[in-house]
Amino acid sequence: MNSVNPVFVPAPNIDTIVSLAKRRGFVFPSSEVYGGLGSAWDYGPLGVELCNNVKQSWWRWLVYERDDIEGIDSSIILNRLVWQYSGHEATFHDPLVDCRECKSRMRADKLEGYFPEGAHQADFDANARLRAGLVKCSECGSTNLTDERHFNMMFRTMLGAAADENDPAALAYLRPETAQGIFINFLNVQTTMRRKIPFGIAQVGKSFRNEITPGNFILRTREFEQMEMEYFVKPDAEHLQLVDEWVELYVEWFKELGIDAANLKLHEVPKDELAHYSKRTVDIMYRYFPERAEEERQWEELMGIAYRTDFDLRSHSSKPVDAEGNRVNPDSTEDLSYFDEATKQRFYPHVIEPAAGVNRTVLAVLMDAYSERTNDKGETRVILKLSPQLAPIKAAILPLAKNKPEIVGMAKAIKRSLQPVLRAVYDDTGGIGKLYARQDEIGTPMCVTVDHQSLEDEAVTVRDRDTWEQERVKVSDLAEHLQKRLKPYPNPLLEPV
Ligand code: ATP
Repeated sequence: MNSVNPVFVPAPNIDTIVSLAKRRGFVFPSSEVYGGLGSAWDYGPLGVELCNNVKQSWWRWLVYERDDIEGIDSSIILNRLVWQYSGHEATFHDPLVDCRECKSRMRADKLEGYFPEGAHQADFDANARLRAGLVKCSECGSTNLTDERHFNMMFRTMLGAAADENDPAALAYLRPETAQGIFINFLNVQTTMRRKIPFGIAQVGKSFRNEITPGNFILRTREFEQMEMEYFVKPDAEHLQLVDEWVELYVEWFKELGIDAANLKLHEVPKDELAHYSKRTVDIMYRYFPERAEEERQWEELMGIAYRTDFDLRSHSSKPVDAEGNRVNPDSTEDLSYFDEATKQRFYPHVIEPAAGVNRTVLAVLMDAYSERTNDKGETRVILKLSPQLAPIKAAILPLAKNKPEIVGMAKAIKRSLQPVLRAVYDDTGGIGKLYARQDEIGTPMCVTVDHQSLEDEAVTVRDRDTWEQERVKVSDLAEHLQKRLKPYPNPLLEPV
């Protein structure tokens, strides 16, 4: 059966996950019947479960288990003015360059030599650096690059079925972040839920960005899902320290999801690369490219934790005035300030924002769960060591003989009896060896086998995915037994909060 000291080989690269994901029903290339659509992916029966479990874990952790966070679900299409006053219309663009040698199109700010060492953004002229040959193509190393051009990354659409394409009054955007839906609802949530600062608002949902260089599977796509939380604090709070606190909490959460701490690292975003609203940002990076020889090139952002100051609440408010006494935002009908009863002071709360991606989390989880193991016969098997809380299926109920109606009937009855407490499936599409292998490959922690003996002794064999060890368990004790084995990552359904 199992070797004494199994050697697990981790995922060597993203391509290994792409192929497993397609083969086993996690993620498919989108629109494949029409030749696909670049960098768009569809989540299959197991992928949708995995995404849901990641989102559910996040929601439980922040909205249910903590007492200081509320959840919302705002519209994807918001009033265009939201994006005008948030700064996205004017500044949400990445610089694009083309390589004249190899014809690649790239994001200039990701290239070696783009930023001068230690300078602030205002201090340098990117095109001068490009023309001087200081910036290198990431594909062929040439410095023969075009000047940079800026394109707004928000997807445009028209409101109204008969709206003219060029009518500015009909112009709207698909949201490029979920955060703004939170800011414009700050007062609604604070007053209806009678919240006092500090408290947070969480939202999970789709965002859209017309990325210049999408790619690397689900790492960078034009349509993706975010889990964002805005944590509102007093203006004089220890903001920079709060960023560190949230970084630590998220690292712990990622570890609980089964991500190895050795594949995580922190990146303090240099001042000259900060977004327009941020005073400090720390990115949590994941080792998405373990195959790259240079350690520095193995990492990409998994999430960011930003101190956004009071920028957004203030910009969306009707009251603030400029030096001449004119309203900075003449369009807003609300003042999104907060009155502190204790100090009798009114102020715009400051915000710490942990912003994570569902898809990048799913990819990191899959890469760290992937392992190859060789059995006694010398066959190599893939085992997805997903933490039980994330596994799409918690238990597979397998009949040893599918031509025996009594065995099949008993297996199906067991499946039905387990379903209210955990996600179980019945499968009889192959011999037992094949069925075990398939469940290992999709990360099912437990297999339950019903055999001839089961009809006599009302007991079944429970097989563990990671050790391949088997034990005999009474059917009457099965639900409780499985629940215990699924700890320390309980299924949310088992332990209502
Ligand atoms: P990057 O520098 O990689 O473009 P970003 O700093 O612009 O990312 P944020 O605006 O901080 O990203 O968004 C928060 C999170 O949303 C990111 O850490 C990532 O997990 C996710 N995310 C952002 N853009 C994409 C995308 N195009 N595809 C998938 N996930 C994304």
